[in-house]
Amino acid sequence: MQVDFLIIGQGLAGSLLAKELLQRGRSVCVVDDGWKSAASQVAAGLMTPLTGRRFTLTRGYPALFATAQSKLGGLGVFRAASVYRMFVDQEQRLRGLGRADDASCAPFVERLTHVQGQLDESLTDEFGGCQMRGAWVDLPMLLSQTKATLLAAGAYRTELFAPEEVAVLPAKVVWKDVAAGALVYCDGYKSSQRGPFTYLPWQPAKGEALTLASDAPQRPFVLNRDGWALPLGGGRWRTGTNWAWDELNETPTEAQRTKLLARFSGYFRHPVCSEVLAHVAGVRPCTADNHPFMGTHPSQGRVHLFNGLGPRGSVWAPAMAAEMAAYLCDGTPLRKECNLARFEV
Ligand SMILES: Cc1cc2nc3c(=O)[nH]c(=O)nc-3n(C[C@H](O)[C@H](O)[C@H](O)COP(=O)(O)OP(=O)(O)OC[C@H]3O[C@@H](n4cnc5c(N)ncnc54)[C@H](O)[C@@H]3O)c2cc1C
Repeated sequence: MQVDFLIIGQGLAGSLLAKELLQRGRSVCVVDDGWKSAASQVAAGLMTPLTGRRFTLTRGYPALFATAQSKLGGLGVFRAASVYRMFVDQEQRLRGLGRADDASCAPFVERLTHVQGQLDESLTDEFGGCQMRGAWVDLPMLLSQTKATLLAAGAYRTELFAPEEVAVLPAKVVWKDVAAGALVYCDGYKSSQRGPFTYLPWQPAKGEALTLASDAPQRPFVLNRDGWALPLGGGRWRTGTNWAWDELNETPTEAQRTKLLARFSGYFRHPVCSEVLAHVAGVRPCTADNHPFMGTHPSQGRVHLFNGLGPRGSVWAPAMAAEMAAYLCDGTPLRKECNLARFEV
């Protein structure tokens, strides 16, 4: 089999990059080990404009959000959603009021509340909150649809790829029966553990999430305070998450299950009854400077990386997949802050 690009990993990064390359008339072969370590299968896919304790807007967010809306909307997996951030204290509330006046944040602020119960009497929003224009991406649907398309085109392999099995030659790369013009690693946090890109400053972080059946009152917005709770309808919720930097694996823990359940109940003024339907864990491919790692290996010109999407893959991936494809196909320069050339070997 001869292709232009051999792509390792079919999470969010590999899926969107494969689509962009195919749209440009290039051929691909995508190899995935059956989503064994896919953060994309665990993520809620939320796009929350103002985030973190300091309640800040990610640099470049408006343009990234607009690209995500148009590209993921075209694929039928973009779900517009309000996100209600409940302030944790008075300091955060004052910051929130300031953000509403900031020209770059204002388009994402739908409403500010000032007293508990102003938006919904069932919530414990003691310091008020900020309702924001956000979204979530149906990642399982995106992944399964992409896999089906690639399988139908004979461009998919369910296999475990080992970097030492590939021969990087001057004119091509060869892996098993596949000869490709180039190799692109889209294998999430696994690239921080083995292969040619371990030298980059990765900071992978494990997170867990629950799917619940609950009698908690569902409203048409996502709840957000420390973590999040996404109403799925019919009494079902997704809720998460936490950050852990040791024991990087896909094993859910009892301790986090207890914490996530307590946090979820804490969003509501009245006791709620919840049953855990699913409990999952994944590892975010985070980077030291919170920007993706994209580009070409410094000494292997046919070996590339599209990775490091961190905790906001849904926001970054659509725009960056297009930029990565333009770079691979036409040599269009990557934006400096995402080009892995910003780091030395
Ligand atoms: C708990 C949790 C919650 C999150 N919530 C959000 C959120 O709300 N919003 C948001 O935007 N982001 C969120 N994220 C982050 C988001 O999941 C990531 O940014 C994104 O999914 C990364 O996609 P990726 O394709 O780079 O990696 P992955 O999804 O990890 O995909 C890598 C793929 O490569 C495969 N692979 C790895 N090694 C090999 C190999 N040797 N051979 C073959 N295949 C291999 C894996 O099985 C996997 O399928 C969350 C992450 C976690 C863990």
